[in-house]
Amino acid sequence: MKKIFYLLAFIVCMASKCHQQNTAPNTNSSAMTETQQPNNPYYSRTDTTKIDIADSEWKKVLTDSVYQVARNKATEYAFTGKYWDYEGLGTYYCAVCGNALFLSDGKFASSCGWPSFFETLRPASVLYVPDNSHDMERTEVLCGRCSGHLGHLFDDGPPPTGKRFCMNSIVLDFEPSEKSKRE
Ligand code: FE
Repeated sequence: MKKIFYLLAFIVCMASKCHQQNTAPNTNSSAMTETQQPNNPYYSRTDTTKIDIADSEWKKVLTDSVYQVARNKATEYAFTGKYWDYEGLGTYYCAVCGNALFLSDGKFASSCGWPSFFETLRPASVLYVPDNSHDMERTEVLCGRCSGHLGHLFDDGPPPTGKRFCMNSIVLDFEPSEKSKRE
């Protein structure tokens, strides 16, 4: 009887160790406080390490609407996203990975129907890629951490940069804050 008990205890112990080893990153309780997407272990507002994983993995952890824009480069309809005319003070993060992208101070009222910014929070917040699709010459804007598609960059923005980062609301996560200015 004792032997069976020890055998069962050993199996339970090994199973629990296996589970720990297979646990995806950032799913412990302390990380969860800054992870607003419990089903997405890659989301972090503090970890700036670049993420390079397969689309099949992204498909498992993102909602279909976020996946379609971030990984398939879909564009949401103008005037339909939640931030195109939003004026709250705070920070905009990548909804895919939590990377800090824009401050509300860098946002401006644009009539284009998509949330528009004239500057990024940090130069490395985003990446730029030439995009010649749809018979147009455009600059695609990707998240600097997860390389997810965010939108496009145009040269018709307001001063001081003259740039317009035309983004999809669905791939933005907004965190309100009294401090919207760069310190
Ligand atoms: Fe990202």
